[in-house]
Amino acid sequence: MNQAFPDIQRVAVIGLGNMGAGMALSLQRAGFSVSGFDPSQAARERLAGKGVTLFDSLAELVAQAQVIVLSLPTSDIIERVVLGEEGIVAHVRQPTILLDTSTADPTSTRRIAEALVNSVLTLVDGPVSGGPKAAHGGTMTMLLGGDEAVLAQLSPVLDALTGKRVRVGEVGAGHSAKLLNNLLCGMHLLAAGEAMRIARGAGLEPEEILKGINAGSGRSGVTEVNYPTWILNDAFDSGFTMKLMRKDLRLAADLIARSGAGVPLAEEALRLWQTSSPAIADADDFNCIVNYEEQR
Ligand code: NAD
Repeated sequence: MNQAFPDIQRVAVIGLGNMGAGMALSLQRAGFSVSGFDPSQAARERLAGKGVTLFDSLAELVAQAQVIVLSLPTSDIIERVVLGEEGIVAHVRQPTILLDTSTADPTSTRRIAEALVNSVLTLVDGPVSGGPKAAHGGTMTMLLGGDEAVLAQLSPVLDALTGKRVRVGEVGAGHSAKLLNNLLCGMHLLAAGEAMRIARGAGLEPEEILKGINAGSGRSGVTEVNYPTWILNDAFDSGFTMKLMRKDLRLAADLIARSGAGVPLAEEALRLWQTSSPAIADADDFNCIVNYEEQR
């Protein structure tokens, strides 16, 4: 439904975890009146006393929001929160933009958008990267799928959350682009891990070799950012877990299957991520995959 949205002042965030909490605080810093909802007491406690109004029910939160930001773990949960009997659609009365920043299944995203066509809700998908640090700093990179006019109206909210944003198509395209990005990131982590093992095995100094790679065409986001920030210093504290990356790669596998493309490299990378499960726990940092060597 095409509709005009009044000046945005009140923004709600649903899902106040590693990412959602930072987004709520960035929105508040930018001058919005921010409310939040999360069934987890620990998540609510982290935000207590920080100026975000915490609601006990979705109904109260939905009644007053002009924009609702979702930062949720899976598409099943997103569908329930949006379309469920006690979900957003059951309570919303005023025109509201729904910005889904979760990494989610694009098929589900399009299904939700279709279900909302005759409602006052308009869905935009804007999955993010940069981790909790960028969520707190309002410097995330966002890949947007949605109507251009709606995105233009959303721009004050996007300004508060992002350092960089790219519209990649209609609703669902943001989630597809994010899955392809994370598939490449998963492949780059494996590839860079192998290069570093070769360097060490050949008696070379990994830190020095990395400097050389980053001056050359073999570099990637992984060699330029992940290695110096979380891997070489053994910190492994990016805030992005193996569990979430495994979810993204499962969704990427679905996307590959639907595309019909022949992708042997991607398939091998997905297989390695899958066989790493007994060796690397879901709660571990996703960068741990660089040290994974399959037992032969
Ligand atoms: P998280 O597990 O820290 O937070 C998710 C929050 O959602 C939790 O606090 C949980 O209690 C809450 N939640 C679960 N069910 C809910 C419901 N029904 N209603 C309201 N809240 C509910 O996860 P995260 O790391 O913040 O990631 C959130 C999303 O962002 C995921 O889709 C993830 O893939 C994506 N993402 C994460 C990162 C990262 O670095 N952590 C980076 C980019 C994208």
